Amino acid sequence: MIAVSEALSLISSSTVNTTTRELPLQNAHGLILCKDVHAAIDMPPFRQSAMDGYALRSDATATTYTVIGEVKAGDAHQYPLAPGQAVRIFTGARVPDQADTVIMQEKVIRTENTITIDGAVATNKNIRPQGEQIKKGEVAVPKGTTITPATIGFIAGLGIDTVAVYTPPKVTIITTGSELVPIGNPLPEGKIYESNSLQLQAALAQLNCQEINIQTVADTYDHTKQIIQQAITDSDVVLISGGISVGDYDFVKRALEALDTQQIFYKIKQKPGKPLYYGINGGTPIFALPGNPASSLTCFYIYAVPLIRRMMGHATPELQHTSKKITSDFVKKGDRAQFLKATATNHEVTPLLGQSSAMLHTFAIANALIYIPADQNNTQKGTKVITITLPQYT
Ligand code: AMP
Ligand code: MG
Repeated sequence: MIAVSEALSLISSSTVNTTTRELPLQNAHGLILCKDVHAAIDMPPFRQSAMDGYALRSDATATTYTVIGEVKAGDAHQYPLAPGQAVRIFTGARVPDQADTVIMQEKVIRTENTITIDGAVATNKNIRPQGEQIKKGEVAVPKGTTITPATIGFIAGLGIDTVAVYTPPKVTIITTGSELVPIGNPLPEGKIYESNSLQLQAALAQLNCQEINIQTVADTYDHTKQIIQQAITDSDVVLISGGISVGDYDFVKRALEALDTQQIFYKIKQKPGKPLYYGINGGTPIFALPGNPASSLTCFYIYAVPLIRRMMGHATPELQHTSKKITSDFVKKGDRAQFLKATATNHEVTPLLGQSSAMLHTFAIANALIYIPADQNNTQKGTKVITITLPQYT
């Protein structure tokens, strides 16, 4: 059995394969750029008015200007301006080349074709210079950036319609257990509904992994081995649920060994999720997650997420850790580290009742996990604890 920290460092030091691809911009949300995006044009592409008002060619001696035309957003018409002349202009419109300032409409008095300005004209106002944000050919967004809605907006504004990103891994989820029945069916005596594949699939979707293959096997050695072998060939990551403990009908470890999988670790000094297995076979990382639903998901978040996010190009792949005040005492028994389902606010975190490995009813309303180190048996209300924020849809 190894410590949590040792397991995490074995995962972060194991080699991962990354693949990349070119995607339509609108399909790249949440993914990471694997190449710099260079500006295809200046942004803005021309001198742009930042206001509704008048663009004028200033004349130190003039207080009135002659309005010789109008430029709306989108117009291409050029007005050569002489000193003392102006055009009516609107936000986003191209400022005539000779104009050296834009005056807000609120600051002028208009009478027919002239405007009168109160006070001196300040030049270089309310004009967004061409290329102010970025110039053609410059790096607009550097590689390694996570593509957010704003990234998409900025890149689209540059007229670019595809981006090069790290490809999310193809994942096979294998559920093991002769007791499992797919939802939507009657539940025979002694059976339970299969839920791990569904929660893992949703958790993978939170990471933007969409290519997911789900396989189910009963507790038989031959079938377990055959499906694992196929999954190793077909996918970039294999997640196995259940069958990794030491029961007579737990065949996953034996099957992995028979397939010459390199075991990186098996069993962690933690609760829940002691029997977690991590290995590599032909370059494919394999997590054998405990079958208990809460253990399975906890192990996924703590151990599989950092690996998968690293495969997707994340520089800081672990879920976010913060230090928050715990709102109640917590007594931990034994010498294993513990991950507690919890609800966190900005400053505080509350451990929930029902922390057993099999219990999902509290996980179902949790938004965080509290990490209690192995040697910390008494945690007092008000002390700071490490809080791991679960990925949210907010
Ligand atoms: P195992 O790790 O296979 O010994 O399973 C531990 C516990 O988790 C048992 O009570 C199983 O019935 C339950 N379990 C295993 N796999 C699943 C699953 N896919 N969905 C829901 N419960 C499961
Ligand atoms: Mg089982």
